[in-house]
Amino acid sequence: MLEKLIRPHILNLKPYSSARDEYKGKEGIFLDANENAIGSATDRLFNRYPDPYQHELKALLAEFHGLRQEQIFVGGAGSDECIELIIRLFCEPQADNILLLPPTYGMYEVSANVNNVRIKTANLKPDFQPDTSKIFQTIDSHTKIIFICSPNNPTANLIHLESILEILEKFEGIVVVDEAYIDFAGTPSWTTQLEHFPNLIILQTFSKAWGMAGLRLGKTFANPLVVNYLNKIKLPYNISQIAQEIVLEGLKNSEKQQNMVREILAERQKLLEELGKIALIKYIFPTDANFVLVKTEKPQQIYEDLVRQKIILRDRSKVSLCEGCLRITVGTGGENKALIAALRSF
Ligand SMILES: *Cc1c(COP(=O)(O)O)cnc(C)c1O
Repeated sequence: MLEKLIRPHILNLKPYSSARDEYKGKEGIFLDANENAIGSATDRLFNRYPDPYQHELKALLAEFHGLRQEQIFVGGAGSDECIELIIRLFCEPQADNILLLPPTYGMYEVSANVNNVRIKTANLKPDFQPDTSKIFQTIDSHTKIIFICSPNNPTANLIHLESILEILEKFEGIVVVDEAYIDFAGTPSWTTQLEHFPNLIILQTFSKAWGMAGLRLGKTFANPLVVNYLNKIKLPYNISQIAQEIVLEGLKNSEKQQNMVREILAERQKLLEELGKIALIKYIFPTDANFVLVKTEKPQQIYEDLVRQKIILRDRSKVSLCEGCLRITVGTGGENKALIAALRSF
């Protein structure tokens, strides 16, 4: 069933075979990859190409997420690279389409546009939950992927489990659940359902809860067949040596990640309480993420006034269904206090 969804020319694609594909041993005199055998222009050595399939990293990730290594793909420009590769794997330009549930994360649309893949939309309802009957009216036989972002960016809410289940059960294409903010949500990941739904792909990232946005590492959890094809179409050495080394350090230090998440959740709670006292803010949407979406009557003026004070929010007021809205990332205690003080004096 999955093979039927993959673009036919990719099923037959002969991938690039790198030096490290052709000889996998770790010891020897390596004269096969045109590397610089003498060293690097830096003090730290980076003269050898990195492991193209990141085995050490995947072994640790498999343990951490309770998955098998064959279910894991790592993207080198964050999960944004994963989004791009997933679209390229399944969607024939000009012929196939993807379904988006706006307002949602902007990269699905950009990646589809770059690849000349059509976009269909079924807006979220006013409570920012999916309208499943609209979804099933909108898709057609060329709809290859439905992107569901949960918790959703920019609305901050989790998408109801029953809606995602209904889509997974009835839709015959790929369902991508983007869990960039799952660590802030207090609900289990959809990784537990991978064995039941071969058409499920889960995206996570090291950019948010792990605090490693600068490393650019995204995680894709999927059926081994999908992972196998993603490996075939990715660029050969997509994760740098230093990114692999440092993310391993992070994973071995997951206690720090958990402490940071706890701290962000505590700060989020304080921020929600303080925002609730500010008359300027008409509504605070429920949040399951490390940010808050608020509605005001003067989003642009507030945004600009805060910028003058060097406090930068994300103006989402021009996004349809987010009229009047500003998106606020939870900062440190001090940063949040500065924001509240600035809003009070607006
Ligand atoms: C931040 C974010 C990502 C992660 O992007 P990276 O490329 O991994 O930094 C993915 N999806 C959503 C919805 C996001 O908000």
